[in-house]
Order: sequence, then structure tokens, then C-alpha cells
Amino acid sequence: MRALVTGGAGFIGSHLVDELINAGYEVNVIDNLSSGDMALINHHMQNEKFSFINGDLTLIDDIMHATKDIDVVFHMAANPDIRLGTQITDTDLKQGTIATYNILESMRVNGVNKIVFASSSVVYGEDAPMPTPENHGPCLPISLYGASKLGSEGLITSWVGTFGFQAWIFRFANIIGERGTHGVIFDFIHKLKRDSSRLEVLGNGLQEKSYMEVKDCVRAMMHIFTNTKEPVNLFNLGSHDTCSVRRIAEIVVDETGYHDAAIEYTGGDRGWAGDIPKAMLSIEKMLSTGYDVNYNSEAAVRHTTKCLIEEIGL
Ligand code: NAD
Repeated sequence: MRALVTGGAGFIGSHLVDELINAGYEVNVIDNLSSGDMALINHHMQNEKFSFINGDLTLIDDIMHATKDIDVVFHMAANPDIRLGTQITDTDLKQGTIATYNILESMRVNGVNKIVFASSSVVYGEDAPMPTPENHGPCLPISLYGASKLGSEGLITSWVGTFGFQAWIFRFANIIGERGTHGVIFDFIHKLKRDSSRLEVLGNGLQEKSYMEVKDCVRAMMHIFTNTKEPVNLFNLGSHDTCSVRRIAEIVVDETGYHDAAIEYTGGDRGWAGDIPKAMLSIEKMLSTGYDVNYNSEAAVRHTTKCLIEEIGL
């Protein structure tokens, strides 16, 4: 099997590449390195089953070329920064929805009909029941990023219905772990590195979300991709519980050893406009496939903190 991984030089994408190579796939990566880093995939560059294209999904010619002779596309590329939408309002439209259109259309032209998509829990919006099952609806996202994910899901299922594609759509919880390049733990470690006397936390710290360790995430993707065969396979991927931002701040302070750091909250119930303060996905459907996670939220947070301190250095 030959897989194309879009965004394969990114945080989750690079772990997926490792998993695919271990499973015997030939892997091509397309990435424009906007938030990705060659350092995350350099260990595969000598492998003849691996190749890298420096290309941009917003350019149809780049993706048309990359989808030739491919059996399945794992579409992981996107703007990862939900906050950016509050300032630049067309990023998620272009890097999310239009990029997904370009992929689907180039797949159709090149006769590739299997797509695996990295969606997000934020498609459910703010007032979803918790834990949120896959069949909750209507989905009413409150961020531009969430809108681009839901729009992409709609394009994907329409390519299934109209052109006979097969799709695996994964709505991720917060994914954390080794090689993390963004997110709350990464931000806290950098803040403490700059000033170890204080740690500013956006919001009141009571935001509470599910965290999933990145290797747990990519293994779940591979397990479900291999074992489910519906035209559209929609799964939440997360862990069994949640962890509050307050608890994350305490764990980061503890692991960095900066025990005198004052944890200061900026106030308000959320970190930024469009943030969803509380989120927990139902993972019953994932569990029903026989897959379970190795880490729950707090253990994933502590493990990630240790890994990132090692990677970033204090
Ligand atoms: P990331 O930024 O590390 O990875 C995204 C990759 O896509 C980067 O390597 C970037 O350079 C590349 N990219 C972006 N725009 C591109 C373009 N136009 N052309 C080619 N390459 C492009 O982010 P991540 O955390 O690894 O996220 C991977 C996917 O998972 C994204 O789709 C993201 O929306 C989704 N997701 C992530 C989380 C999370 O908690 N990290 C949660 C839900 C969903």
C-alpha cells in the first residue's frame, strides 16, 4: 500500500508516518513546512520506501502531482492555531476547506478513492452533551477553524456519495505528546523558561478538556482504518476522562521544578474567543472496535510535560 500523508512533517503527521512505515506502507509526505519541521521526519529520509514533497495544498498542481499512484491519502495538514482565526479570517477557509477540496478533486482525477481525515472535537460546538457521541447534531462550531473542519467533512462525505469514495473521519480530542510544537503544555513550558517566577494562564483555569497521547491517537487511526469498511467511518478519538487547565499548570510547574512560580489567571471562562471551555468526547465507538488508549488525560499531560521539557530544554 502506498500512502500519501499531507502535513506529514507536523506533530501528529510525523508520528503517523512512523506508524505507517512500521506497518510496511510506502509513504509519501507533502508538506509546505509552514508549521512542520523536517527534523520530525529526517530519520526516514534514507528509507527507500519514503519520499518527501515540499508542496502546498492550496496549489492544485502540487497536490495533483502528489496524488499520482497513491492508494490512500491521510489528510493531516491544516492551520493548527485555532486562535489565528480571530485575527486573519481566511486562513482556515484556505488552509482547511479549500485545501481539502483540492485534495479530493486531485484524488478523483487520479483515481484514488480512500481518504482518512484529521477532524476535531470542535465541530460539535459549545452546547453539546458530554461526553459527546458521534451522532450528536446539529454540529454548530463556534470557531473559524471548527467551521473549516466541518466544511471539510461535508466535502469528504459528498465525494463519498457522488464519486464512490471511502472515508475515515476522525474527530480528535486535544492531542499531546512527544514532538509537540504548539498547545497549552508547550506554551506553559516556554513561558516558565522566559520567566520562572510566574506562569500566566489564559482564562480562569477551569477549562476542562480530554487529552489523548499522540501515539495512542495514531495507533487508533491505524486500527480503525484497518478494521472498518463502511463508506463513511466516523469516529471520535480521545481518552476516558478530562484534565483542567489549572491541573495542567500545576503539573508543568511541578515537572519544571519552578515550584515558586506564581500561577496567575487572566480570568474569564475561556482562553480566547472561539475557545470551547469544556469538552469531552464519547469514545464508546472507538472502544467497540477493540482499541483502547494507554494514557488517560492526566497521565498524558504528565508524560508530555516530561517529553517537552527534554526537547525544549529549560
Ligand atoms: P501541525 O501544525 O504540527 O501539522 C500540520 C502540518 O500541515 C504542518 O507540518 C504544516 O507545515 C502542514 N501544512 C499546513 N498547511 C499546509 C499547506 N497548505 N500545504 C501543505 N502542508 C501544510 O499540527 P498537528 O497538531 O499535527 O495537527 C495535525 C492535524 O490534526 C491538523 O489537521 C489539525 O487540525 C488536526 N487536529 C489536531 C489536534 C491537536 O490537538 N493537535 C486536535 C484536533 C485536530
